[in-house]
Amino acid sequence: MKITFIGLGIMGQAMASNLLKNGTALTVYNRSLEKAEPLRALGATVAQNAEEAVADADLVISMLADPSAVDQTFLSESGILKHMKPNSTWIDCSTVDPEFSRISAAAAQKSEVAFIDAPVAGSKPQAEAAVLSFFVGTTAEGIAPFEALLLQMGQKVIPFGTAGQGSSFKMVVNMLLGQSMVVFSEAIQLGTALNIDPEFLLKTLPKLPVTTPFTALKTDNISSNTYPTHFPLEHMLKDLRLATQAYSSAGKRLAVAETVKAQFEGAAEAGKSRQDFSAIHAYLTS
Ligand code: NAP
Repeated sequence: MKITFIGLGIMGQAMASNLLKNGTALTVYNRSLEKAEPLRALGATVAQNAEEAVADADLVISMLADPSAVDQTFLSESGILKHMKPNSTWIDCSTVDPEFSRISAAAAQKSEVAFIDAPVAGSKPQAEAAVLSFFVGTTAEGIAPFEALLLQMGQKVIPFGTAGQGSSFKMVVNMLLGQSMVVFSEAIQLGTALNIDPEFLLKTLPKLPVTTPFTALKTDNISSNTYPTHFPLEHMLKDLRLATQAYSSAGKRLAVAETVKAQFEGAAEAGKSRQDFSAIHAYLTS
C-alpha cells in the first residue's frame, strides 16, 4: 500500500515521524515545504506539490488546520481529490465539523475514493509518544484494514459507525476542553483574589475530583507564565466556533460555550493565536 501524509504541522509532523520510525514507507507533503525536511531525514519521499503527493497513493492521510484548509487542499477547483486514484482511501485526521466531514465523504464518493473522518484526541506530547486516540467515522469493519497503521500513531481506535460521527464526538470533546481550561483559570483567579497562594492552588486543585484531569498538564505553563505551543489557541477557537455553529444550526444556543468562545476570540485578537490554548489564563488575568 502506497501511503501519503499531507499536513506536517505540530501534529502531522509527529504522526508521520512515528509511521516512518515504524518502517512504513511514506510520501509526505506540506504547503510550507521546509517542514518536510526532518521527515526526509527519516526516509520519507518528499513531494514538491500536493498533486504529485497523491497521484500514486492507495491511502492519503491528512492533518490540516481547519475546514478551509481541507477544502482548499482537497475539495476546491484546484484541490487534489480529483487527482486521487479510484478505489483509494482518504483518512482525514483534521478537526473539522461533522457536516464538513459529510461533505468531504460525498465529494470523495464522486471521485470513487473512500473517505473516513478520523480526528484525534491527544496533543503534541501524545502524538510524539504515539498514544493518540482516533475517533473514526466508520464501522469496526470499515477501519479494520487501516487499524494497524493508525496504531503506529496511537493506542486507541474508536469506531463511530458513519461518516461525520468521528468529527461529531471530537466537537464534544474539544468543547469540554476549552470550557474546562477557562473554568480552571477562573478557579485560580478566585482563589488568588481570596488570598490563597497561587502555587498552592496550582498544586492542589488538579488533585481534587472537581478538576478536569488534563489541567494538571497546564499548571507549569500558568506557574511560569510561559505557554509553549502544544495545541495552538487559534485551533481551540476554531473548535469552539465549529461546535457552537453546529449546535446553533439546530436553532439552539450553548450558553457556556458561547461565552468561552468570546474569551478565546479576545485572546486571539490580543495576539495569542499561536501560543498554547492554556494562554487563555494569561489573557484573562492581564
Ligand atoms: P498546525 O501546527 O497549525 O498545522 C496546521 C497544518 O495545516 C500545517 O501543515 C499547515 O501548513 C496546514 N495548513 C493550514 N492552512 C492551510 C491551507 N490553507 N492550505 C494547505 N495547508 C494548510 O496545527 P496542528 O496542531 O498540527 O493541528 C492540525 C489539526 O489537528 C487541527 O485541525 C487541530 O485542531 C487538530 N488537533 C490538534 C491538536 C494539538 O494539540 N495540536 C490535538 C488534536 C487535534 P503550513 O505549515 O504551510 O502552515
